[in-house]
Amino acid sequence: MVRRTFSRRSFNKTASVTAAGPFIHSRRARAQETADVIVIGAGLAGLNAAGIMADSGLNVTVLEGSSRIGGRVWSTTKTWETNAGEVPIELGASQISGSYARVLDAVDRLGLTLIDQDREVLPFSFHMNGMHIKAGDWADSPANPLEGEEREIPATAYGSTTLAKLNPLVELDDWLDPRFSDYDVSVHDLMKRNGVSEQGIRFSTVSGLGTEIHSVSALRYFQERTRGTLESQFVGPLDEDGKPIEFWPKNILGGTAMLPRAMVAQLPGRVHTNKHVAAIEIEDDGVDVRTLDGSRYRARFVISSLPFTVLRSLSIWPRPPGPQFQAIQQLNYAETTRAFCRIKEPFWQEDGFEPSINSDGAVRMFWVMDNHSGEGEHRGMFVVTGQAAFRVSARSPEAASAYLVKELERMRPASKGQVEVLRYHSWGNEPLQRGCSPMFAPGQVTAFANEMIIPHGRLHFAGEHTRRLEYGMEAAMESGERAAFEVLDRT
Ligand SMILES: Cc1cc2nc3c(=O)[nH]c(=O)nc-3n(C[C@H](O)[C@H](O)[C@H](O)COP(=O)(O)OP(=O)(O)OC[C@H]3O[C@@H](n4cnc5c(N)ncnc54)[C@H](O)[C@@H]3O)c2cc1C
Repeated sequence: MVRRTFSRRSFNKTASVTAAGPFIHSRRARAQETADVIVIGAGLAGLNAAGIMADSGLNVTVLEGSSRIGGRVWSTTKTWETNAGEVPIELGASQISGSYARVLDAVDRLGLTLIDQDREVLPFSFHMNGMHIKAGDWADSPANPLEGEEREIPATAYGSTTLAKLNPLVELDDWLDPRFSDYDVSVHDLMKRNGVSEQGIRFSTVSGLGTEIHSVSALRYFQERTRGTLESQFVGPLDEDGKPIEFWPKNILGGTAMLPRAMVAQLPGRVHTNKHVAAIEIEDDGVDVRTLDGSRYRARFVISSLPFTVLRSLSIWPRPPGPQFQAIQQLNYAETTRAFCRIKEPFWQEDGFEPSINSDGAVRMFWVMDNHSGEGEHRGMFVVTGQAAFRVSARSPEAASAYLVKELERMRPASKGQVEVLRYHSWGNEPLQRGCSPMFAPGQVTAFANEMIIPHGRLHFAGEHTRRLEYGMEAAMESGERAAFEVLDRT
C-alpha cells in the first residue's frame, strides 16, 4: 500500500520551494483541482495506470479530451447480426488473444464476459494487374509476377511470408537491443540486401506489406512478428484428448467498450471527459496541466498516454530532451480506413470467384464474413491501409464510402447494388488519435525507442506506442502498468 501523504523528503523539498516561490504558490491556488497524479487520456493505457495508482491509495484525476472514453476501443451503436446475436460494429480493437494476461485479468476482475469471436473471413480471390483471378489459378496466372516455387504462395501472403524468413529476433525485447540496429532499415532495403528479387519486393507492396516497405523500419515489423509467433504457440488448457478447451481470439459481450467503461466505474468521479489538454508545465514540485476550456489542474506527477501524433501539438515546458523530443515530433503512425458493410445477397455465387478480395488497387482488401448459412445477408468490410488509406480518407466519409463500393463494383460487377456501407471510419482523420498505430520509420528505433519512455521530470509516458514487449490492447495495458509503477516508486 502506498501512503497518500508526501514523504518527509519530498515534503521538505516542496515546502522549501513553495516558501521561496510565490509564483508557484499562486499557480497552485489557481488550479481548480489538485491530485497526486493526473493521467491524460482515458484509453486502456491511461485507465490501467489510473486504476493501479488509485488501488495503491493515490489520488488520481483522469483528463480525457473526448466526450467518449476508450480511445481506440470504440464499439458503436450500429450493430451487426452474427451467430452470437447482434454485436456492435467495432471501429477499433475487438480481438482478445489467449495470451493477453493483463486484459484477461481486467475482464475477469471487472466481471465482464468473453464470447467466441464470430468473424470467419471467407476465402480470397485476387485482383491484380487488371485481372480477377481465382485462388486456385494464381500459380499459373499471367498476373503472377513471381518465379519458381514462389508462384505457389497466395497473393495475400507473399509479403509477410518473405519478410518473416528474415526475422532475426528471438526475445520479445530484442527489437530494442542495439545488437539488432543493423535491421533498423526500411523493409525494402532489408529485402534487397537479402537477395529478394526486384519483382518480389515490388509485389510485396500489394501483398500484405504496402508501400510502407520504404517508410517503416523492419524492426517494427519484427517486434510484432516475434510477439505474434508467441501468440500462435499459445493454446491454453487442453481437454482429456489433448485438444484446446478454448478457441481464441475472443470478444467481450456487449462490445469491447465494456472494458474501458468498467475501468472508469472503478474510479468514481475521477474521470473528466471533454477536457482537451493543451499544455503541460513541469516544475520542481509539481506539474501544471491546462485544458482548452481554460481549466487548470495540478498534481505531483502526470502520466501522458496520448499518441505522439497528438502530444506533438501540446505545449510541454520545459521541452523534453533531444531524442524524446524527436520521438514526440517524428514517430510515424499508420493509417487504417475501414468501411463496415451489409451484403444483401451473396454476389460471389453469381460470379463464381471466392467471396473476399485482395487487390493491387485502392480497395486493397474487402473481407466477406461468413453468416454460417451461406445464403442471404452477409457482413463485409473494406480494410484499406497505408498510403492507399491516406488517399481514400482524403475524401469526405460519404464520398470515400461511395468510392470504395464503386471500386468493388468495377472489379466485381456482380456486387452492384449488393453492398451497403453501414459505418465508415478513418483513424488518421480522428483528431485525438491521428493514426491507427505507431510505425517506427527506418532509423527511428535506434534514434529514440529506448529514450522516448524515460520520465521527463515529473512527466511520465504511457500508451501503446511506448510498448516494450506486447502488441495491441495488451501493449496499452503493459504501458499503463509500467508508468503507474514508475510513479509509485517515487511516492
Ligand atoms: C482499427 C483498429 C483495430 C484494432 N484491433 C485490435 C484488436 O483486435 N486487438 C487488439 O488487441 N488491439 C487492437 N487495436 C489496438 C488497440 O486499439 C490499441 O492498442 C489500444 O486501444 C491503444 O490504447 P491507448 O490507451 O494506448 O491509446 P488510445 O486508445 O488512443 O487512448 C488515448 C486517449 O487519449 C485521448 N486524448 C488524445 N488527445 C488528448 C488531449 N489533448 N487531451 C486529453 N485527452 C486526449 C484520446 O481521446 C484517447 O481516449 C486496434 C486498433 C485499431 C485502430
